[in-house]
Amino acid sequence: MKTVLITGAAGFIGSHLCDRFLAEGYNVIGMDNQITGAMSNIEHLIPLKRFTFYHHDITNYIHVPGHIDYILHFASPASPTDYLRYPIQTLKVGALGTYNLLGLSRVKKSRILVASTSEVYGDPQVHPQAEDYWGNVNCVGPRGVYDEAKRYQEAITMAYHQAHGLETRIARIFNTYGPRMRTDDGRVMPTFINKALRQEPLCIYGDGEQTRSFCHIDDTVEAVYRLLLSDYCLPVNIGNDGEITINVLAGLILRYTGSSSQILYDDRRTDDPIRRKPDIRLAREVLKWQPVIPVEEGIQKTIRHFR
Ligand code: NAD
Repeated sequence: MKTVLITGAAGFIGSHLCDRFLAEGYNVIGMDNQITGAMSNIEHLIPLKRFTFYHHDITNYIHVPGHIDYILHFASPASPTDYLRYPIQTLKVGALGTYNLLGLSRVKKSRILVASTSEVYGDPQVHPQAEDYWGNVNCVGPRGVYDEAKRYQEAITMAYHQAHGLETRIARIFNTYGPRMRTDDGRVMPTFINKALRQEPLCIYGDGEQTRSFCHIDDTVEAVYRLLLSDYCLPVNIGNDGEITINVLAGLILRYTGSSSQILYDDRRTDDPIRRKPDIRLAREVLKWQPVIPVEEGIQKTIRHFR
């Protein structure tokens, strides 16, 4: 039986990955310090024999006994609200946390997949963003703590691949949404849904014509699973290439919740990207994957969860 270590296991994506790998018959070791995650996301797994949980900050030395086949590194504050609240921890987990896990991969001879982000493209000047676009990041802007942590993470992961022949995978994940997101993480989807359900106003920053591409968690997990088992070591975009404006998103959420919340507009946030859409041709080709859950359906599923 194969063993996988998942960091960020108590978080939104990490907990869904734990579910998936357990369902596939793996032993799963979850690791998390719960800075932004919650045990409630994985409490259903605690009684399972094939699941072990370590409460550990991965920026400190990591010791795990026994063999590990795969490491999935998903630990990091991920929403702007979270990484602006924990700027140093965000840089540390991207840098020291990744360094520690690469060392562990070397010792255990494990393959490692790291969760990168579309934020490595910053406020992109090309559209849609393909993997060979180098990005437009303001390293000293507020988002720099996250963007640069992830850019460093990619760089050190490639360095270990090149210098030590480590088997590495890099997933550049675009906005993912679904059950187990926190209502207070500041991300637009859970924020709007919860405001709408409470009949409170939805606040749009800027004119609402900025676009986002939302990928349902089940599609993201499928892509991560396939990427891990592929033999492709350069970054791969994982996201939904259907692009919608924040105005349209707000309208859909009001419609599906049946809410009469008002829509209010406020100033655009610093360095908030105007357009964001993945080019997923590489994922289609290498992983034989594409998102299959339309955003309208995914929003309705997510609303049911939050209700
Ligand atoms: P999340 O905050 O729900 O989960 C992250 C988890 O990592 C949390 O449980 C947190 O407690 C844990 N963590 C943070 N620092 C840690 C440390 N030092 N030691 C141990 N655990 C630590 O966020 P998420 O949305 O599930 O994101 C997971 C990963 O996917 C992150 O690396 C994020 O950058 C990446 N990602 C997410 C999205 C998205 O749309 N959700 C998009 C791109 C990339």
